Amino acid sequence: MNRPAPRGYLIDIEGVLVRNKAYEPVAGSVEWMERLAAAGAPFCLVSNNTTDRPGTLIDRLNRAGFSLTRGHLLGAVELALTLLMERGIGRIVWLGAPGMRGYWEEAGIEVVGGGPCGAVVMGLDPGLDVARLDAVLPSLLDHGADLICLHRNLFYLDADDRRRLGPGCWSAALEALGGRGKVVTVGKPDPRIYRAAMKRIGVAAADTLFISDDPVADLVTAGRLGMQTAFVLSGKYGDHEILGRMDQEDWPGIICSRLADLPLPEKEPE
Ligand SMILES: [Mg+2]
Repeated sequence: MNRPAPRGYLIDIEGVLVRNKAYEPVAGSVEWMERLAAAGAPFCLVSNNTTDRPGTLIDRLNRAGFSLTRGHLLGAVELALTLLMERGIGRIVWLGAPGMRGYWEEAGIEVVGGGPCGAVVMGLDPGLDVARLDAVLPSLLDHGADLICLHRNLFYLDADDRRRLGPGCWSAALEALGGRGKVVTVGKPDPRIYRAAMKRIGVAAADTLFISDDPVADLVTAGRLGMQTAFVLSGKYGDHEILGRMDQEDWPGIICSRLADLPLPEKEPE
């Protein structure tokens, strides 16, 4: 079945725009994004990054050569903040990068180390140790705190391209304990962030192309929500061997080596 040319674009950052946590641009990605913007196509970066404030992330991308504004980004952290506000949660345990503690506090949320709280919020903390996980057990098991997972990625690539265990591993362990609160996933692959991103660009699913280096964690949900999908081999996976471990109906519509290989939309008529 031929799909219509996409009118809107949802774009993963790491492995698509930049190679890894060192934020070196993937060859051709800066120019492709410039041409996408010049064509007037609505787009949004959809990020599971939990270690940088949204503004910091945009600054880092712009230092790498991109020309982006804060409105071009929808990240798991800002969506989690919205969720906390909606649920009236004013006290959390933050199991994520220590540098992000102020992000919550500046929004009026008290950050505690354990005990009674509304939620344990799990992000990526390369220095997370077992003692900090132990400390949240009373929150989850005795005080009914929700477990809010900014994402469930099982591993990530660090600045040296080494695979490191991600927050999805720790979330799975805490979820298996069967606490009394809810377990909520905010970022990809939960549909919540995809729906929010579609709303941001104002384009229907069938006319939206989701571009990512992770066909499992990012593109399965996009496809099931009716979006077109493109798998780029410039990040987590250097070949398409991973598809052999997926249901064929979840395979991405396009596979290419990098973002710059994707066709760009025609310029919108004035
Ligand atoms: Mg990625």
